[in-house]
Amino acid sequence: MPSKVLIIGAGPSGTACAATLHRLGHDVTVVDKATFPRDKCCGDGLTTNALRILDQLGFDPSRVPDWQVTSDVHVHSPFGRTIELALPNVGGIFAAIAPRSQFDHALVQHCRDAGITIHEGHAFVSLSETDTSVVVEVEGLEPFNVDYVVAADGMWSPVRKAMGLSTPGYLGEWHAFRQYIGNVTGSSATQLHVWFEKDLLPGYVWSFPLPGNRANFGYCILRSSDRSTKFMNDTWRDLLTRPHIREALGQDNVPEDRHTAWPIPARIDTAIRSSGRVLFIGDAVCATDTLTGEGIGQALETGIAAAESIDAGNSPREVRSHYSRAIDKTLLADHRMSVVLSAVLARPFFARLVLAVVDTNNWTRTNFARWMFEDEPRAIVLTPRRWHRKFFSRSGAYES
Ligand SMILES: Cc1cc2nc3c(=O)[nH]c(=O)nc-3n(C[C@H](O)[C@H](O)[C@H](O)COP(=O)(O)OP(=O)(O)OC[C@H]3O[C@@H](n4cnc5c(N)ncnc54)[C@H](O)[C@@H]3O)c2cc1C
Repeated sequence: MPSKVLIIGAGPSGTACAATLHRLGHDVTVVDKATFPRDKCCGDGLTTNALRILDQLGFDPSRVPDWQVTSDVHVHSPFGRTIELALPNVGGIFAAIAPRSQFDHALVQHCRDAGITIHEGHAFVSLSETDTSVVVEVEGLEPFNVDYVVAADGMWSPVRKAMGLSTPGYLGEWHAFRQYIGNVTGSSATQLHVWFEKDLLPGYVWSFPLPGNRANFGYCILRSSDRSTKFMNDTWRDLLTRPHIREALGQDNVPEDRHTAWPIPARIDTAIRSSGRVLFIGDAVCATDTLTGEGIGQALETGIAAAESIDAGNSPREVRSHYSRAIDKTLLADHRMSVVLSAVLARPFFARLVLAVVDTNNWTRTNFARWMFEDEPRAIVLTPRRWHRKFFSRSGAYES
Protein backbone atom coordinates (compact mmCIF):
# COMPACT_ATOMS: atom_id res chain seq x y z
CA MET A 1 0.00 0.00 0.00
CA PRO A 2 1.40 3.45 -0.86
CA SER A 3 2.70 5.42 2.13
CA LYS A 4 2.40 9.14 2.75
CA VAL A 5 5.87 10.54 3.43
CA LEU A 6 7.20 13.98 4.40
CA ILE A 7 10.88 14.62 3.70
CA ILE A 8 12.54 17.44 5.61
CA GLY A 9 15.49 18.82 3.63
CA ALA A 10 15.93 19.06 -0.14
CA GLY A 11 19.69 18.50 -0.41
CA PRO A 12 21.12 15.42 -2.19
CA SER A 13 19.80 12.95 0.41
CA GLY A 14 16.26 14.39 0.51
CA THR A 15 15.89 14.69 -3.25
CA ALA A 16 17.26 11.17 -3.93
CA CYS A 17 14.82 9.81 -1.36
CA ALA A 18 11.93 11.80 -2.86
CA ALA A 19 12.70 10.72 -6.44
CA THR A 20 12.86 7.05 -5.40
CA LEU A 21 9.69 7.11 -3.28
CA HIS A 22 7.83 8.83 -6.11
CA ARG A 23 9.06 6.24 -8.63
CA LEU A 24 7.88 3.48 -6.31
CA GLY A 25 4.38 5.01 -6.22
CA HIS A 26 4.33 6.66 -2.78
CA ASP A 27 2.80 10.04 -1.91
CA VAL A 28 5.79 12.25 -1.11
CA THR A 29 6.19 15.92 -0.16
CA VAL A 30 9.46 17.75 0.57
CA VAL A 31 9.97 20.89 2.67
CA ASP A 32 13.17 22.92 3.03
CA LYS A 33 13.79 26.07 5.06
CA ALA A 34 16.00 27.46 2.28
CA THR A 35 15.00 28.96 -1.04
CA PHE A 36 16.90 27.45 -3.97
CA PRO A 37 19.41 28.10 -5.39
CA ARG A 38 21.18 28.10 -2.03
CA ASP A 39 24.84 27.48 -1.27
CA LYS A 40 26.16 24.60 0.87
CA CYS A 41 29.69 24.70 2.25
CA CYS A 42 31.24 21.85 0.25
CA GLY A 43 34.14 20.88 -2.02
CA ASP A 44 31.59 20.25 -4.81
CA GLY A 45 33.39 17.01 -5.77
CA LEU A 46 31.37 14.10 -7.18
CA THR A 47 33.00 10.66 -7.10
CA THR A 48 32.09 7.73 -9.33
CA ASN A 49 29.79 6.43 -6.62
CA ALA A 50 27.76 9.66 -6.63
CA LEU A 51 27.85 9.93 -10.42
CA ARG A 52 26.57 6.40 -10.99
CA ILE A 53 23.67 6.98 -8.60
CA LEU A 54 22.81 10.28 -10.31
CA ASP A 55 22.91 8.48 -13.65
CA GLN A 56 20.52 5.81 -12.32
CA LEU A 57 18.20 8.53 -11.00
CA GLY A 58 18.04 9.97 -14.53
CA PHE A 59 19.67 13.23 -13.41
CA ASP A 60 20.82 15.39 -16.32
CA PRO A 61 24.27 17.01 -15.70
CA SER A 62 23.59 19.69 -18.31
CA ARG A 63 21.24 21.26 -15.75
CA VAL A 64 24.41 22.34 -13.85
CA PRO A 65 25.99 25.20 -15.86
CA ASP A 66 29.46 24.90 -14.25
CA TRP A 67 29.60 21.07 -14.33
CA GLN A 68 33.28 20.20 -14.77
CA VAL A 69 34.48 16.68 -15.57
CA THR A 70 37.89 15.66 -14.23
CA SER A 71 40.15 13.00 -15.69
CA ASP A 72 43.16 13.12 -13.35
CA VAL A 73 44.13 13.96 -9.80
CA HIS A 74 47.40 15.49 -8.59
CA VAL A 75 48.24 14.17 -5.15
CA HIS A 76 51.05 15.85 -3.18
CA SER A 77 52.71 13.84 -0.41
CA PRO A 78 53.68 15.43 2.95
CA PHE A 79 57.28 15.44 1.73
CA GLY A 80 56.65 17.35 -1.48
CA ARG A 81 56.43 14.47 -3.95
CA THR A 82 53.66 14.79 -6.56
CA ILE A 83 51.83 11.84 -8.06
CA GLU A 84 49.57 12.28 -11.07
CA LEU A 85 46.74 9.77 -10.94
CA ALA A 86 44.89 9.38 -14.22
CA LEU A 87 41.34 8.18 -13.81
CA PRO A 88 40.48 5.15 -15.99
CA ASN A 89 40.17 5.94 -19.68
CA VAL A 90 37.55 3.32 -20.50
CA GLY A 91 34.50 5.48 -21.30
CA GLY A 92 32.14 7.35 -18.96
CA ILE A 93 33.10 9.77 -16.20
CA PHE A 94 34.73 8.95 -12.87
CA ALA A 95 34.85 12.38 -11.19
CA ALA A 96 33.21 15.78 -11.65
CA ILE A 97 32.89 19.12 -9.88
CA ALA A 98 29.41 20.59 -9.49
CA PRO A 99 28.97 23.84 -7.50
CA ARG A 100 26.40 23.05 -4.83
CA SER A 101 24.25 26.13 -5.41
CA GLN A 102 23.68 24.94 -8.99
CA PHE A 103 23.74 21.19 -8.29
CA ASP A 104 21.21 21.18 -5.44
CA HIS A 105 18.94 23.53 -7.36
CA ALA A 106 19.11 21.15 -10.33
CA LEU A 107 18.18 18.20 -8.07
CA VAL A 108 15.15 20.15 -6.82
CA GLN A 109 14.14 20.88 -10.43
CA HIS A 110 14.66 17.21 -11.32
CA CYS A 111 12.19 16.20 -8.60
CA ARG A 112 9.68 18.90 -9.55
CA ASP A 113 9.74 17.80 -13.17
CA ALA A 114 8.81 14.31 -11.96
CA GLY A 115 5.75 15.82 -10.25
CA ILE A 116 7.00 15.96 -6.64
CA THR A 117 5.78 18.84 -4.46
CA ILE A 118 8.63 20.78 -2.83
CA HIS A 119 7.89 23.68 -0.47
CA GLU A 120 10.91 26.02 -0.31
CA GLY A 121 11.36 28.59 2.44
CA HIS A 122 9.40 26.56 5.01
CA ALA A 123 11.28 25.35 8.10
CA PHE A 124 10.41 22.28 10.13
CA VAL A 125 9.18 23.24 13.61
CA SER A 126 8.12 20.13 15.55
CA LEU A 127 6.64 16.66 15.30
CA SER A 128 4.58 14.31 17.41
CA GLU A 129 3.94 10.63 16.81
CA THR A 130 0.69 8.74 17.34
CA ASP A 131 0.22 4.96 17.03
CA THR A 132 -0.69 5.30 13.37
CA SER A 133 0.97 8.46 12.03
CA VAL A 134 3.24 11.46 12.57
CA VAL A 135 1.95 15.02 12.80
CA VAL A 136 4.51 17.58 11.65
CA GLU A 137 4.43 21.36 12.12
CA VAL A 138 6.15 23.32 9.37
CA GLU A 139 6.43 27.12 9.34
CA GLY A 140 3.79 28.75 7.14
CA LEU A 141 2.04 25.48 6.12
CA GLU A 142 -0.89 23.44 7.43
CA PRO A 143 0.25 20.57 9.71
CA PHE A 144 1.18 17.36 7.86
CA ASN A 145 -0.27 14.02 8.94
CA VAL A 146 1.92 11.32 7.40
CA ASP A 147 2.93 7.65 7.72
CA TYR A 148 6.67 8.37 7.76
CA VAL A 149 9.04 11.32 8.13
CA VAL A 150 12.49 11.27 6.53
CA ALA A 151 14.96 13.65 8.17
CA ALA A 152 17.31 14.85 5.41
CA ASP A 153 18.05 18.03 7.32
CA GLY A 154 21.83 17.92 7.49
CA MET A 155 24.53 17.83 10.15
CA TRP A 156 22.54 19.71 12.84
CA SER A 157 19.28 17.85 12.06
CA PRO A 158 16.56 19.92 13.76
CA VAL A 159 14.33 16.81 13.55
CA ARG A 160 16.82 14.76 15.57
CA LYS A 161 17.06 17.62 18.05
CA ALA A 162 13.26 17.98 18.35
CA MET A 163 13.06 14.25 19.11
CA GLY A 164 15.63 14.59 21.89
CA LEU A 165 18.07 12.32 20.06
CA SER A 166 21.00 14.72 19.57
CA THR A 167 24.28 14.06 21.37
CA PRO A 168 25.11 17.11 23.51
CA GLY A 169 28.31 18.82 22.39
CA TYR A 170 28.68 16.77 19.20
CA LEU A 171 30.51 18.86 16.56
CA GLY A 172 31.27 16.27 13.87
CA GLU A 173 34.40 14.16 13.33
CA TRP A 174 35.94 16.63 10.87
CA HIS A 175 35.83 20.37 10.37
CA ALA A 176 36.27 21.87 6.90
CA PHE A 177 36.78 25.32 5.37
CA ARG A 178 35.93 26.34 1.83
CA GLN A 179 36.23 29.41 -0.38
CA TYR A 180 35.76 30.02 -4.08
CA ILE A 181 38.84 31.59 -5.67
CA GLY A 182 38.76 33.71 -8.82
CA ASN A 183 41.45 34.75 -11.28
CA VAL A 184 43.24 31.42 -10.86
CA THR A 185 46.20 31.52 -13.22
CA GLY A 186 48.22 28.52 -11.95
CA SER A 187 47.62 24.83 -12.58
CA SER A 188 44.58 24.86 -10.24
CA ALA A 189 42.61 26.51 -13.05
CA THR A 190 42.45 23.16 -14.83
CA GLN A 191 43.88 20.52 -12.49
CA LEU A 192 42.47 18.87 -9.39
CA HIS A 193 44.99 19.02 -6.53
CA VAL A 194 45.04 17.26 -3.16
CA TRP A 195 47.83 18.24 -0.76
CA PHE A 196 48.63 16.10 2.28
CA GLU A 197 50.23 18.76 4.48
CA LYS A 198 52.30 17.39 7.36
CA ASP A 199 50.57 19.51 10.03
CA LEU A 200 47.05 18.51 8.93
CA LEU A 201 47.30 14.72 8.50
CA PRO A 202 45.14 12.75 8.00
CA GLY A 203 43.36 15.89 6.80
CA TYR A 204 44.21 17.48 3.49
CA VAL A 205 43.92 20.60 1.36
CA TRP A 206 42.07 20.59 -1.95
CA SER A 207 41.73 22.76 -5.00
CA PHE A 208 39.04 21.66 -7.48
CA PRO A 209 38.94 23.44 -10.86
CA LEU A 210 35.85 25.28 -12.10
CA PRO A 211 35.14 27.01 -15.41
CA GLY A 212 36.20 30.64 -15.89
CA ASN A 213 39.57 30.40 -14.06
CA ARG A 214 37.90 29.66 -10.75
CA ALA A 215 38.54 26.98 -8.14
CA ASN A 216 36.85 25.53 -5.09
CA PHE A 217 39.61 25.67 -2.47
CA GLY A 218 39.48 24.29 1.05
CA TYR A 219 40.85 22.06 3.75
CA CYS A 220 39.54 19.56 6.26
CA ILE A 221 40.94 18.60 9.60
CA LEU A 222 40.10 15.95 12.19
CA ARG A 223 38.51 17.45 15.28
CA SER A 224 40.54 16.98 18.43
CA SER A 225 40.87 18.77 21.74
CA ASP A 226 44.25 20.28 20.82
CA ARG A 227 42.91 21.86 17.62
CA SER A 228 41.04 24.96 18.75
CA THR A 229 38.88 27.17 16.55
CA LYS A 230 41.71 29.71 16.61
CA PHE A 231 44.16 27.06 15.35
CA MET A 232 41.80 26.15 12.51
CA ASN A 233 41.25 29.80 11.54
CA ASP A 234 44.98 30.56 11.68
CA THR A 235 45.73 27.47 9.57
CA TRP A 236 43.19 28.61 7.00
CA ARG A 237 44.87 32.00 6.60
CA ASP A 238 48.31 30.40 6.53
CA LEU A 239 47.43 27.87 3.81
CA LEU A 240 46.77 30.60 1.27
CA THR A 241 50.29 31.91 1.81
CA ARG A 242 52.15 28.56 1.45
CA PRO A 243 54.35 28.85 -1.67
CA HIS A 244 53.31 25.57 -3.38
CA ILE A 245 49.63 26.45 -2.92
CA ARG A 246 50.09 30.03 -4.10
CA GLU A 247 51.92 28.69 -7.14
CA ALA A 248 49.04 26.36 -8.02
CA LEU A 249 46.39 29.07 -7.53
CA GLY A 250 48.51 31.77 -9.17
CA GLN A 251 50.04 34.80 -7.46
CA ASP A 252 47.14 37.10 -8.37
CA ASN A 253 44.29 34.82 -7.28
CA VAL A 254 41.30 36.61 -5.79
CA PRO A 255 39.32 34.95 -2.97
CA GLU A 256 35.59 35.51 -3.60
CA ASP A 257 33.13 36.47 -0.86
CA ARG A 258 34.07 35.17 2.55
CA HIS A 259 35.16 31.67 3.44
CA THR A 260 32.67 29.28 5.04
CA ALA A 261 33.33 26.48 7.52
CA TRP A 262 31.15 23.53 8.44
CA PRO A 263 31.43 20.24 10.35
CA ILE A 264 31.57 16.83 8.67
CA PRO A 265 29.71 14.06 10.55
CA ALA A 266 31.30 10.65 9.93
CA ARG A 267 30.08 8.05 12.40
CA ILE A 268 27.58 5.87 10.65
CA ASP A 269 28.59 3.04 13.01
CA THR A 270 27.12 4.71 16.10
CA ALA A 271 24.62 7.28 14.75
CA ILE A 272 20.91 6.83 15.44
CA ARG A 273 19.46 5.73 12.10
CA SER A 274 15.76 5.75 12.88
CA SER A 275 13.20 6.08 15.64
CA GLY A 276 9.50 5.22 15.48
CA ARG A 277 8.26 6.44 12.10
CA VAL A 278 11.26 8.67 11.42
CA LEU A 279 14.34 7.72 9.34
CA PHE A 280 17.55 9.79 9.27
CA ILE A 281 19.54 10.05 6.04
CA GLY A 282 22.67 11.78 4.66
CA ASP A 283 24.50 14.05 7.11
CA ALA A 284 21.58 13.63 9.52
CA VAL A 285 22.70 9.98 9.94
CA CYS A 286 26.41 11.05 9.92
CA ALA A 287 27.04 9.09 6.70
CA THR A 288 30.09 10.91 5.29
CA ASP A 289 33.23 8.91 4.61
CA THR A 290 35.64 9.24 7.49
CA LEU A 291 38.70 9.03 5.22
CA THR A 292 37.80 11.55 2.53
CA GLY A 293 34.89 13.59 3.92
CA GLU A 294 32.90 12.63 0.82
CA GLY A 295 29.22 12.77 1.71
CA ILE A 296 27.21 13.41 -1.46
CA GLY A 297 27.38 9.79 -2.67
CA GLN A 298 26.49 8.57 0.82
CA ALA A 299 23.63 11.09 1.03
CA LEU A 300 22.19 9.79 -2.25
CA GLU A 301 22.74 6.17 -1.15
CA THR A 302 21.05 6.53 2.25
CA GLY A 303 18.19 8.51 0.65
CA ILE A 304 17.51 5.67 -1.77
CA ALA A 305 17.92 3.03 0.97
CA ALA A 306 15.36 4.84 3.18
CA ALA A 307 12.89 5.05 0.28
CA GLU A 308 13.31 1.36 -0.56
CA SER A 309 12.87 0.46 3.12
CA ILE A 310 9.60 2.38 3.37
CA ASP A 311 8.49 0.57 0.22
CA ALA A 312 9.52 -2.87 1.52
CA GLY A 313 8.31 -2.73 5.13
CA ASN A 314 4.76 -3.44 6.30
CA SER A 315 5.22 -1.72 9.67
CA PRO A 316 7.53 0.94 11.16
CA ARG A 317 9.52 -1.86 12.82
CA GLU A 318 10.06 -3.64 9.47
CA VAL A 319 10.96 -0.37 7.76
CA ARG A 320 13.53 0.47 10.44
CA SER A 321 15.20 -2.90 10.38
CA HIS A 322 15.26 -3.00 6.55
CA TYR A 323 16.95 0.41 6.54
CA SER A 324 19.48 -0.57 9.19
CA ARG A 325 20.39 -3.75 7.30
CA ALA A 326 20.87 -1.76 4.08
CA ILE A 327 23.33 0.56 5.86
CA ASP A 328 25.17 -2.37 7.45
CA LYS A 329 25.61 -4.06 4.08
CA THR A 330 27.34 -1.16 2.36
CA LEU A 331 28.26 1.93 4.33
CA LEU A 332 29.28 0.25 7.57
CA ALA A 333 31.97 -1.94 5.97
CA ASP A 334 33.29 1.09 4.06
CA HIS A 335 33.35 3.09 7.27
CA ARG A 336 35.45 0.45 9.07
CA MET A 337 37.93 0.34 6.18
CA SER A 338 38.17 4.14 6.14
CA VAL A 339 38.87 4.24 9.88
CA VAL A 340 41.86 1.95 9.35
CA LEU A 341 43.18 3.89 6.36
CA SER A 342 42.69 7.18 8.14
CA ALA A 343 44.83 5.96 11.06
CA VAL A 344 47.57 4.98 8.58
CA LEU A 345 47.48 8.35 6.81
CA ALA A 346 47.66 10.20 10.13
CA ARG A 347 51.41 9.43 10.34
CA PRO A 348 53.64 11.24 7.83
CA PHE A 349 55.94 8.20 7.46
CA PHE A 350 53.09 5.84 6.55
CA ALA A 351 51.42 8.44 4.35
CA ARG A 352 54.67 8.72 2.40
CA LEU A 353 54.99 4.94 2.18
CA VAL A 354 51.43 4.46 0.92
CA LEU A 355 51.87 7.15 -1.72
CA ALA A 356 55.21 5.64 -2.81
CA VAL A 357 53.52 2.26 -3.33
CA VAL A 358 50.70 3.96 -5.25
CA ASP A 359 53.30 5.60 -7.49
CA THR A 360 54.97 2.27 -8.44
CA ASN A 361 53.66 2.09 -12.02
CA ASN A 362 50.78 3.08 -14.30
CA TRP A 363 48.65 0.14 -13.17
CA THR A 364 48.92 1.04 -9.46
CA ARG A 365 48.32 4.72 -10.18
CA THR A 366 45.18 4.17 -12.28
CA ASN A 367 43.71 1.49 -10.08
CA PHE A 368 44.39 3.44 -6.89
CA ALA A 369 42.46 6.33 -8.44
CA ARG A 370 39.69 3.95 -9.46
CA TRP A 371 39.61 2.47 -5.97
CA MET A 372 39.37 5.92 -4.37
CA PHE A 373 36.70 7.21 -6.73
CA GLU A 374 34.80 4.07 -7.76
CA ASP A 375 31.41 3.08 -6.57
CA GLU A 376 33.09 -0.22 -5.83
CA PRO A 377 33.25 0.31 -2.13
CA ARG A 378 36.62 0.91 -0.58
CA ALA A 379 35.89 -2.03 1.70
CA ILE A 380 35.47 -4.43 -1.20
CA VAL A 381 38.62 -6.21 -0.04
CA LEU A 382 36.88 -7.00 3.23
CA THR A 383 33.57 -8.09 1.70
CA PRO A 384 34.18 -10.84 -0.88
CA ARG A 385 30.46 -11.11 -1.68
CA ARG A 386 30.90 -7.84 -3.61
CA TRP A 387 33.82 -9.05 -5.75
CA HIS A 388 33.22 -9.32 -9.45
CA ARG A 389 35.38 -9.73 -12.54
CA LYS A 390 34.71 -6.30 -14.01
CA PHE A 391 36.14 -4.46 -11.03
CA PHE A 392 39.20 -3.24 -12.95
CA SER A 393 37.52 -2.70 -16.31
CA ARG A 394 34.08 -1.21 -15.66
CA SER A 395 33.37 2.06 -17.47
CA GLY A 396 32.39 5.25 -15.64
CA ALA A 397 29.00 6.92 -15.20
CA TYR A 398 27.04 8.57 -18.01
CA GLU A 399 28.62 6.42 -20.71
CA SER A 400 26.66 7.35 -23.81
C1 LIG B 1 33.74 22.02 3.54
C2 LIG B 1 33.09 20.73 3.12
C3 LIG B 1 33.50 20.14 1.94
C4 LIG B 1 32.87 18.97 1.48
N1 LIG B 1 33.25 18.48 0.27
C5 LIG B 1 32.61 17.42 -0.24
C6 LIG B 1 32.92 16.96 -1.56
O1 LIG B 1 33.75 17.53 -2.28
N2 LIG B 1 32.27 15.87 -2.02
C7 LIG B 1 31.32 15.23 -1.27
O2 LIG B 1 30.78 14.23 -1.73
N3 LIG B 1 30.97 15.68 -0.04
C8 LIG B 1 31.57 16.75 0.48
N4 LIG B 1 31.20 17.24 1.72
C9 LIG B 1 30.07 16.61 2.44
C10 LIG B 1 28.71 17.03 1.83
O3 LIG B 1 28.65 18.43 1.71
C11 LIG B 1 27.54 16.52 2.68
O4 LIG B 1 27.80 15.21 3.10
C12 LIG B 1 26.22 16.57 1.92
O5 LIG B 1 25.85 17.89 1.63
C13 LIG B 1 25.10 15.91 2.73
O6 LIG B 1 23.88 16.07 2.04
P1 LIG B 1 22.48 16.08 2.83
O7 LIG B 1 21.40 16.10 1.80
O8 LIG B 1 22.46 15.01 3.84
O9 LIG B 1 22.49 17.42 3.68
P2 LIG B 1 22.59 18.95 3.21
O10 LIG B 1 23.22 19.05 1.89
O11 LIG B 1 23.22 19.67 4.35
O12 LIG B 1 21.09 19.41 3.07
C14 LIG B 1 20.28 19.57 4.22
C15 LIG B 1 19.07 20.41 3.86
O13 LIG B 1 18.20 20.48 5.00
C16 LIG B 1 17.66 21.77 5.07
N5 LIG B 1 17.24 22.06 6.46
C17 LIG B 1 18.01 22.24 7.55
N6 LIG B 1 17.24 22.56 8.61
C18 LIG B 1 15.96 22.56 8.18
C19 LIG B 1 14.70 22.83 8.80
N7 LIG B 1 14.59 23.18 10.10
N8 LIG B 1 13.57 22.74 8.05
C20 LIG B 1 13.63 22.42 6.74
N9 LIG B 1 14.80 22.18 6.09
C21 LIG B 1 15.95 22.25 6.80
C22 LIG B 1 18.82 22.69 4.62
O14 LIG B 1 18.33 23.95 4.18
C23 LIG B 1 19.42 21.85 3.49
O15 LIG B 1 18.91 22.18 2.23
C24 LIG B 1 31.83 18.38 2.23
C25 LIG B 1 31.43 18.97 3.43
C26 LIG B 1 32.05 20.13 3.88
C27 LIG B 1 31.59 20.76 5.17
